[in-house]
Amino acid sequence: MYLDKEVDVMHACGHDAHTAILLSTAKILTGMRDRLPGTVVFYFQPAEEGPSDFIPDGKNTWGAKMMVQEGVMKSPKPDAVFGLHVWAGVPAGQIAYRPGPTLASSDDLRIKILGKQTHAGRPWDGIDPITVGAQTIVGLQTVVSRRTDISSFPAVVSIGTINGGTRYNIIPESVDMSGTIRSYDYGIRQKLHADVRQTVEKIAESGGAKAEVTIIEKYDPTINNPALTEKMLPSLRWAANGDVVNAPLVGGAEDFSFYAKEAPGLFVFLGVTPRDQDMSKAAPNHNPGFFVDESALVVGVRTLASLATDYLYANAAD
Ligand SMILES: [Zn+2]
Ligand SMILES: [Zn+2]
Repeated sequence: MYLDKEVDVMHACGHDAHTAILLSTAKILTGMRDRLPGTVVFYFQPAEEGPSDFIPDGKNTWGAKMMVQEGVMKSPKPDAVFGLHVWAGVPAGQIAYRPGPTLASSDDLRIKILGKQTHAGRPWDGIDPITVGAQTIVGLQTVVSRRTDISSFPAVVSIGTINGGTRYNIIPESVDMSGTIRSYDYGIRQKLHADVRQTVEKIAESGGAKAEVTIIEKYDPTINNPALTEKMLPSLRWAANGDVVNAPLVGGAEDFSFYAKEAPGLFVFLGVTPRDQDMSKAAPNHNPGFFVDESALVVGVRTLASLATDYLYANAAD
């Protein structure tokens, strides 16, 4: 059951692959511990996708956010943090990366439109939250298209659910909607929040209704440190036998972003789609058809192991 509805459940993000990769990396690096000029800490990712629901009181914490709050990056305090995510639609064993913003911030949007219940044949006796809801959804389309400077980074505002009403001839008291706000820049993110609030509240006001807007900041944008990215590029090339490409911006979010706020971070994508398949037709992560070509796991281990060791040796030499 999720939000009172029976739904099928599958995560299919690839975190089983990540766990296998990191465990193998830990096994290899502990085997050569006496030769490492420094310390390596292995952070696994419990509850990366968060709890199934969020209490809008600002105190939500889970996964990497909670681990950071509880001090996982305090002792020892890392000089750099590395991570990877398996990715469908990228050939198995290929690494895709980009410096700077890489994955989006992800904030939950909750909207309640309060009208006044009446008979649908006498709409003038009430306030129709269904019509206001429709105007709200259309109005929200202008937040990105008309009010956001997208010349450096894009942004997204999507409505994913809309619930209201019980019968065809009753105008209901209220309508609930939920959606997501995504961006790659902290300034754009805050402006989006303000513009979404204003748009929703003023559209409701124009219809005589009231709107309650709640925005829950779930994930910060995942930003790769440009200097660290450039420094570690040879390690990525070695790990993937030279098969390293540039990655596009990803509209998904990552709680690696919380680690990368504490120390310079580098997060890369590891292709897991069999090389004889049409990449454009591969089922994406989170799709029921998501598939991991396990030959990529070795490249994942080589990636994390070489990033950690090469970084430590380079630092020791500096
Ligand atoms: Zn996921
Ligand atoms: Zn994931």
